[in-house]
Amino acid sequence: MFYKMNATEVLNALNSSKNGLSEEQVRESENQYGKNQLAEEKKQGVLKVFFSQFKDLLVIILIIAAVISIFTGDPESTLVILVVIVLNAVLGTVQHFKAEKSLNSLKKLASPLAKVIRDGKRRGIEAANIVVGDILVLEAGDVVPADGRILESYSLQVNESSLTGETESINKISGEISGDKTLADQDNMVFSGTQVTYGRGLAVVTSVGMNTELGKIAQLMNETQERKTPLQVSLDDFGKKLSLLIMVICACILGLCVYRGMDLLDSLMFAVALAVAAIPEALSSIVTISLALGTSKMAKENAIMKNLKAVESLGCVSIICSDKTGTLTKNKMTVKDLYPAENGEASKERLLLGALLCNDSSVAEGKVLGDPTETALIEYYMNTENDYGQVVADYPRLAELPFDSDRKLMSTLHKIDGSYAMLTKGAADVLLYRATQIYNNGQERAITEEDLNRIKEQNTAYSKKGLRVLAFSQKKMDKESLDFADEDQFTFIGLIAMQDPPREESKGAVAHCMSAGIKPVMITGDHKITASAIAEEIGILSPGQRAITGMELDELSDEKLDQEISEISVYARVTPAHKIRIVDAWQKKGNIVAMTGDGVNDAPALKKADIGIAMGITGTDVSKDAASMILTDDNFATIVKSVANGRNIYTNIKNSIKFLLSGNTSGILAVVYTSLMALPIPFMAVHLLFINLITDSLPAIAISMEKPRADLLKEPPRRSDEPILTKPYLMEIGIQGLLIAAFTLAAYYHGLLVGAATASTMAFATLCFARLWHGFNSRGKQSLFKLGLFTNMYSLGAFALGTFLLFSVLMIAPLQRLFQVTPLSGANLIYIIVCAVAPTILIQLARVLKELLHKN
Ligand code: ADP
Ligand code: MG
Repeated sequence: MFYKMNATEVLNALNSSKNGLSEEQVRESENQYGKNQLAEEKKQGVLKVFFSQFKDLLVIILIIAAVISIFTGDPESTLVILVVIVLNAVLGTVQHFKAEKSLNSLKKLASPLAKVIRDGKRRGIEAANIVVGDILVLEAGDVVPADGRILESYSLQVNESSLTGETESINKISGEISGDKTLADQDNMVFSGTQVTYGRGLAVVTSVGMNTELGKIAQLMNETQERKTPLQVSLDDFGKKLSLLIMVICACILGLCVYRGMDLLDSLMFAVALAVAAIPEALSSIVTISLALGTSKMAKENAIMKNLKAVESLGCVSIICSDKTGTLTKNKMTVKDLYPAENGEASKERLLLGALLCNDSSVAEGKVLGDPTETALIEYYMNTENDYGQVVADYPRLAELPFDSDRKLMSTLHKIDGSYAMLTKGAADVLLYRATQIYNNGQERAITEEDLNRIKEQNTAYSKKGLRVLAFSQKKMDKESLDFADEDQFTFIGLIAMQDPPREESKGAVAHCMSAGIKPVMITGDHKITASAIAEEIGILSPGQRAITGMELDELSDEKLDQEISEISVYARVTPAHKIRIVDAWQKKGNIVAMTGDGVNDAPALKKADIGIAMGITGTDVSKDAASMILTDDNFATIVKSVANGRNIYTNIKNSIKFLLSGNTSGILAVVYTSLMALPIPFMAVHLLFINLITDSLPAIAISMEKPRADLLKEPPRRSDEPILTKPYLMEIGIQGLLIAAFTLAAYYHGLLVGAATASTMAFATLCFARLWHGFNSRGKQSLFKLGLFTNMYSLGAFALGTFLLFSVLMIAPLQRLFQVTPLSGANLIYIIVCAVAPTILIQLARVLKELLHKN
């Protein structure tokens, strides 16, 4: 029971020390206790996935068709149908595992590194490589990677709700505990999967993998399956209704055929073929393919999407709330100016002492590591003055109150000149508000109104230049500990101003947002004037817009905020709780809101936003857990690019579906027409199979590969509740279907002059070829002259391959027999080609005309 032992006993028991394990010991420990991995959930086997492909309604119909073919003395058709069914299932299986693989690799990208001390050095390693005895470094925002016993705690607080259900964070201590305690009361232990919400600490790993408390309950938990996206749900629903309607039509036509005295089996075959032609089987899977392709492309462009659902909403984003520091700016700070409490070396020295000691960054091998606000201070000192290491060694830290973005202060305790002193740094307004003394000639005296005015003026002057200002103070103490109540009655020792320039891309990205009808909003803990200066520079604070502080926001009633929110584009000096209110207010107005965040306290706002965006570099584990998207470059411009990708993916899906549905419509119209007119069957079952399952899927996939076009960011975002199947959309499908059906029938009638078999072959060839051409129309709304024929090479490839397959079937004798086509004369071939291109030429002509008219 590690919680009952003291720190030394635990370390001895685990063969470890505060310097961590050596490489050799790591290997030994791994052999003894294993890796830090939870047993993987049982994956679905290949066979299971393969057979699940046969549950489809379409496949059942096909099997019926195959059986009927046997009875109608047509074994070749049976063979073809069976081959197609199996091929279809194989493709489905491959696609399933490919999607799973790409999702898994995305998951890997999204999982953070754990911090350990080994051989006396701090390093980041994959959580799976942690072993028993490792020394864990825990900081606010980390997810604890294994179970451990606390060795040092600096105000360390952990939220263990994932394990115990207790929602309040628990103060963690390093001393031993006597008596038997349940998990919830083992205050000197940390447990895998829980979240560090405050402070920092060290712990030695006591168990890993399945032996952790999380591992013990892992069997009980079932990772939630990736659910279908809203689009897939609505398409599934539509598909079901459509299938039902088609079944009814098929039944009617079957009745009609039998009534006209057609052979029962032949009539059945005809009805079945019609069902195959009309049922849109690929709707939901085209969504999956498009989303999967889209996410892997976005991952390459520095945006990791954690679920497919988010990709869909991404295209609807109308508000992007972004942090300033690090996302809109470079997060590379440099100290520009010092403003000590008074002129003279002593005052400056004291200010620098505060800057170095009240600082969590450290120097390793000449490099300064840590938060940029703090590293800037150390870099400044190392560039201008002497030995940093000596100063820090001379005044060891005795206690601390870590920085958080609610207080906007940080304090440390040291022994200076024989007495305890608390050094505090933080936001100038917060700190000055609580300053009662000022450093003067090595002494402290009461701060005057004049002093305060002078300092505030300086602060404003810095801020107007877009500089970030930190204020510093000291305070004599008479105890060797700190608590929050001590952060008062400060002695002011000076200001330090630093610069964090905007990223070069920010300005352009903001302009893109505006033209795309998306409102960019800056949210920052920084000073209002500093924030405004930068917001103006990059264009967020445009004329007519204004900046408010968190305090001003608190004073606005909900109604007032509703009225004014569209005029506010900068929120300064806010706390994470304000972010939730801002998201909420925008959402109430029907907006889809993207919100960035990096700290632990940002997690609730990230969850509340439609798209929570975490920072890959500077973000905490907890924020990454809560987010639906992670920026690997922390860059605002990447968000805007992702929105464009999100819009493009949605447009492509819509176009693919339009292509499939219009093609199906043409087939069904031709069949319905011939059966009403009591003409011979235009298509054999195998024809419709060939078109639906082989040649149609090629252009559909090519359309989903269409690249984002520049004009994607020139239109306002689509409404999230806009249904995909709008009336104009369905109208277009109907018109295009009608057009193709008309020319198919023209070829059919021409073939009928020779005989029923030739008519059927010509109808099949024309329908198939026309749909291959139609793939080009479905690439976008514009004419091909605008889209460019060579801007999507996949669509050319799809057309070429489809054409090759079709003409192989038409020309090669064994295939002719298999696919029930008759040899055609050269004149008839030309007739087919003309009828097949005609719809596309007409559609393109209409678009060119429209574009010309629009220009004038
Ligand atoms: P942001 O990341 O939006 O700039 P923060 O919440 O990080 O906002 O910081 C808010 C304010 O707190 C800053 O303007 C600065 O004055 C102060 N501050 C930032 N970092 C530190 C720190 N490490 N120690 C003390 N004060 C800090
Ligand atoms: Mg910050």
